Amino acid sequence: MTRGRVAVHAHFYQPLRADPFSGVIPADPTATPYHDWNARIDAESYKPNAARGNLERISWDLGPTLAGWLAAEDPSTHLRFVEAAPGRAMAQPYHHSILPLASAADRRTEIRWGIRDSELRFGFRPNGVWLPETAVDLPTLALLAEEGIAYTILAPWQAADAQIDTRRPYRVSIGSGQAISVAFYDAALSSAVSFEPTATDDADRFALERIAPRLARPPFPDGTTPTALIATDGELYGHHHVFRELFLEHLLVPTPADAQARTYDTVLLSEVMVEPADQPFAVARILERTSWSCHHGVARWSAECPDATDGRWKGPLRAALDRLAAGIDAVSLGLLKASGVGLDFWAARDAYIEVVSGAEDRNSFARRQLGARVAKNDERQLIELLEAQRWRLAMFASDGWYWEDPARQETAQNLLAAARAVRIVDSLAGTRLEESLAADLALFSSPSRGLDGAVLYRMALESIGQPGPE
Ligand SMILES: [Zn+2]
Repeated sequence: MTRGRVAVHAHFYQPLRADPFSGVIPADPTATPYHDWNARIDAESYKPNAARGNLERISWDLGPTLAGWLAAEDPSTHLRFVEAAPGRAMAQPYHHSILPLASAADRRTEIRWGIRDSELRFGFRPNGVWLPETAVDLPTLALLAEEGIAYTILAPWQAADAQIDTRRPYRVSIGSGQAISVAFYDAALSSAVSFEPTATDDADRFALERIAPRLARPPFPDGTTPTALIATDGELYGHHHVFRELFLEHLLVPTPADAQARTYDTVLLSEVMVEPADQPFAVARILERTSWSCHHGVARWSAECPDATDGRWKGPLRAALDRLAAGIDAVSLGLLKASGVGLDFWAARDAYIEVVSGAEDRNSFARRQLGARVAKNDERQLIELLEAQRWRLAMFASDGWYWEDPARQETAQNLLAAARAVRIVDSLAGTRLEESLAADLALFSSPSRGLDGAVLYRMALESIGQPGPE
């Protein structure tokens, strides 16, 4: 019998936690004894996994919003990620927004920023992209392929064929004769690692009782080696479940005595996703607008997903931010037109990752976009408008919709990003988009607190010492 293979992928991500006005992360008492949740999760998961060498043994994606924090606050752990990246790092769309719910232009920017961040950070173009919440549709896959991305990871229930065999990679046709490869992860193994702490208190037992049976089913007639992919949040190794960084280490590097009992080999996902020229991957189709953490498509981030006791706030919150985004875009294009600078604003936004990442300073970026003979005011205006776009993109981070209730820090963070974006544009253009935003936010309320979204918006601003809307 052929030995099967196991690959592990960890999705490492934290949202932006910094106040968008000051750039400083406020102290969060719920993260005690640490300053904030980034610091706490770093101590419990990122740092110990890096120290134990686990980053070299698995495939992972490190979200840009977390990577930027690590680079500043824990450079030695960040360096371990950088050193382990070749062959292991997948990119992640920049702000972790749900791409099937975003406009075409926003999807492209999020993907391009994520790929460029990965390239600047790790020194090479990534081959794979982890989609936020694995939320997918064909246009999103086509955009990935346009950027030269070869593969992504999805949950098995995102395949149109319920009988899909997750032990092999597939290719999904995206039209025009093109395809993108998909690794469907092993749901039984991944959910045991994520949600069954008793299953992972002994790595040898997990290998024997859980992994081996998944690979023991009949091999593929074409000779493909069966591979089980365990894909989960990275934070569960040490943060959600204590000491599971030790489980991961022992699972992947057994002692010589334990290794004899293992019936499979450990590999990196990037090795599995190399498509042999003479043996193309089997073909699969995907279910449009589905995800890994909601069994109702992408309702968790847009509508009354049945998993929430009362999800009536989710649709109106998204509608309010969609309307704000449209308003900001229209006003921005109007200002640029009036100033007479010839510029593809969306191409400039895609390129603005150079400034966001710190690779280029604002002035040289503006000169490069506008040409040397443009007035200083026009340069300043372009930078301001792109700064507004940066926060207008950040306000769609999936976290704001993920939980039961909008009266949480995650949603407040989205509202603060919206405030930063709208205040830049209103002050440049003399518009009153913030008034419309507040009126739209008043259309929903928090199920637990009974406060409407406009009140939550004001409270979020006041919590960081900013005045509420007039
Ligand atoms: Zn759901």
